[in-house]
Amino acid sequence: NKSRVDHQDMHEDSFLNKASSPSDREPDDKIVIGFSMDTLAEERWLRDRELFKEAVEALGAEVKIFASKGDDALQILHAENLINEGIDILVIVPHNAESTAMIVKKAHAAGIKVLSYDRLVRNSETDLYVSYDNEMVGELQAKAITKLVPKGKYVYIGGPETDYNAHLLKKGVFNILQPLIDKGDITVVYDQWTKEWYPENAYTNMKEALKVNHNEVDAVISANDATAGKVIQALAEQGLAGKIPVVGQDADLAATQRIVEGLQTMTVYKPLKALADQAAELAVKLAKGEEIEVERIVNNGKLEVPAILLSPIAVDQNNIDETIIADGFHSREEVYKNK
Ligand code: BGC
Repeated sequence: NKSRVDHQDMHEDSFLNKASSPSDREPDDKIVIGFSMDTLAEERWLRDRELFKEAVEALGAEVKIFASKGDDALQILHAENLINEGIDILVIVPHNAESTAMIVKKAHAAGIKVLSYDRLVRNSETDLYVSYDNEMVGELQAKAITKLVPKGKYVYIGGPETDYNAHLLKKGVFNILQPLIDKGDITVVYDQWTKEWYPENAYTNMKEALKVNHNEVDAVISANDATAGKVIQALAEQGLAGKIPVVGQDADLAATQRIVEGLQTMTVYKPLKALADQAAELAVKLAKGEEIEVERIVNNGKLEVPAILLSPIAVDQNNIDETIIADGFHSREEVYKNK
């Protein structure tokens, strides 16, 4: 493919001396997508990586993937390398919602559009945002748990401030909790961000929440399943696992097992194939300069970003068979393994 720079041809300064850009594309050239991921730590991201690759290849395009292990500088470097290689479009899962704005700037300077995948790049001119509706994730969590615990002391174990999803999740949770707080039915006795989404940090926070409240806690909303796992461990150490409802999101295998065992109340299931398929299709369209119609917009601090927000699904013991298992997201054997 003549319009593209090979790896071995890449020089330090190739960003400045860009040998190719989307405008050099021949109509028959294969579209090349750069996929800059944050982390592969949570189970879901491995699935996103595979599903996105499959979807891109099914469309006759090609994808180059880097994951940057939660390291901002490394993500910026990876993205620059991708831009230098002459990709046609950049798809990004930002680690840091703010600092990745620089990547959008660099991509645009090279004539490359940027699609925010799952997480929004803030204060930038991101071209498109494709995600599950994170505010709705928070609402589903809070609706499920307030049904079980309409009155009482609540703990909120959030995501990190650096991921805009954590803010949207929290907004959704409080959309539901606030009227109950105002009525005096619910008190939030502990509310903390979880730095870097590290489950260990959630564990420390949950231990602290129990300590300061002398174990008098009635419900816990945890921003994802990986953190919920550690919240439940902290509860177990006080003999409270399975007694205090805990909700999470992602439908991680371990979380589905905890649900059928009665240790976790529910999870929010995001069928990732739909996200990967949408993102791949739209990335190819953006790369070809085609018009994209959207029904939603999300303000990223700088502008209204056109958005596709898919609907997440609340899953508990009652509907796990007809959702997560029926879809083959996890097998029945795996989910019920410890039962
Ligand atoms: C995603 C979650 C994920 C979390 C940690 C969030 O932005 O929406 O699905 O669990 O990041 O990686």
